[in-house]
Amino acid sequence: MAESEIVLRGGRVIDPESGFDAVADVAIGGGQVTEIGTGVLAAAEVDVAGLVVTAGFVDLHSHVNDLAGLRLQALDGVTTALELEAGASPVAAAYRAVAAEGRPINYGFAASWAQARMTEVAGFAPGGSLAQVLGRLGHPGWQRPATPGQLTALLSRLAGDLADGALGIGLLLGYAPAVDPAEYLRVAELAAQAGVPTFTHARDLIEMVPDALIDGAEEIVRVAGQTGAHMHYCHVNSTSQRHIDRVLGLVARAQAAGARISTEAYPYGSGMTAIGAAFLAPERLGERGLVPSSLTYAPTGERVASQARLRELRQADPGGLAIIELLNEDDPADRALLMRSLTFPGAVVASDAMPLTWSGPGPRTDPLAWPPGPTAMTHPRTAGTFSRAIRLLTRGEHPLSLDQALRRCSLEPARLLEPRVPAMRRKGRLRAGADADLVILDPATLTDQATYADSTRPSAGIRYVLVNGAFVVRDGSIVPDARPGRPVRAQPR
Ligand SMILES: [Zn+2]
Repeated sequence: MAESEIVLRGGRVIDPESGFDAVADVAIGGGQVTEIGTGVLAAAEVDVAGLVVTAGFVDLHSHVNDLAGLRLQALDGVTTALELEAGASPVAAAYRAVAAEGRPINYGFAASWAQARMTEVAGFAPGGSLAQVLGRLGHPGWQRPATPGQLTALLSRLAGDLADGALGIGLLLGYAPAVDPAEYLRVAELAAQAGVPTFTHARDLIEMVPDALIDGAEEIVRVAGQTGAHMHYCHVNSTSQRHIDRVLGLVARAQAAGARISTEAYPYGSGMTAIGAAFLAPERLGERGLVPSSLTYAPTGERVASQARLRELRQADPGGLAIIELLNEDDPADRALLMRSLTFPGAVVASDAMPLTWSGPGPRTDPLAWPPGPTAMTHPRTAGTFSRAIRLLTRGEHPLSLDQALRRCSLEPARLLEPRVPAMRRKGRLRAGADADLVILDPATLTDQATYADSTRPSAGIRYVLVNGAFVVRDGSIVPDARPGRPVRAQPR
């Protein structure tokens, strides 16, 4: 055990794993928690009396790759932000690129089925940035059914990524509705052999697209049963819309029958994705009960005025991000639906955080500047998901205890990955030997502050955040040069 370098003195220490909840000192050294007790000594100390000290949040669904966005996540208590739904392929190149630039919080990737498919089926060069993936999302070339040869090449690409430590396989399946369900089955078989989860953006539900090849929820559940793979159902709230109860009922029955399915949700009624996505085509908006003005195009902040304008934007900037109103946060029935996606047994909180878009006229702010400035915009989930979820879960009509809410933000996501990811056995917990990824918060004032109109406003009540023992947030403010984030990788079989 390393020597203690710093002690967090006199906070209310909550370990989501053991249920330990008492006033104590937490000592840190060598990037780990060295001791929890009273009267603990160390070279330096920080008085955290009156605050809660707990494990940092593990976000299984973050697309953020810019410093400002990562800082917003840190100010929301996130110490590990993983890109598991879109993923990255080749994954080794993604880890190398991030290691070279450094990050304030821990990072990791699943293998990207979409990127592998963009190469093997559409012929794009391997790799590339998230912006490139977003720009190509609506491109029909990668959505075509694969030939047997292409499927073999695709699977071998994904297997290579798993051998390089990818945390699972991410599938943007809902963006390629014509893909043969047999291909999805093969990818899940690969994941089952490797002992890693898949992370799926589900295909369209049958209620929305009656002639879909297969119902998006049925598909995930069936494949879990057929392959034994751990199937993680991404953002049940946004892909299920007003069919959340039907989808969760189906998942619950499959879980009861032994299928390995996990779910996640974020507490907002709107989604955000590339405006060129297939399901945002003007003629398809009606499937989701949408009209053009349900979309806000981030680069200009405009509500899309007409079908013609939507066509124009999809043509000119298919990767441009748009906020999409799916559920009405002002409607009590819709809010209750969202809460059921968050309180579903075992559901984890995951943000689907997006990179910032610099919008409007005037000079583009330096992306490294902090704060990001008034022209930066994103979905409020980027800055506020975890504080908002904890607020809603602990102060609502049927509140959870604080430690129950915290479990969904830290321990449960860590557990979901830990069978093949050794680092995850030391995260999501607060005990001696755990990684010193910690959040110190004031439960009385903890709240999200980001809104659709003011989307980069950091959450309130997060006082300190440590990543691998280094302060990333101190006295509620970002530590400018802190880049203690480390890669999180799976241990290949
Ligand atoms: Zn998604």
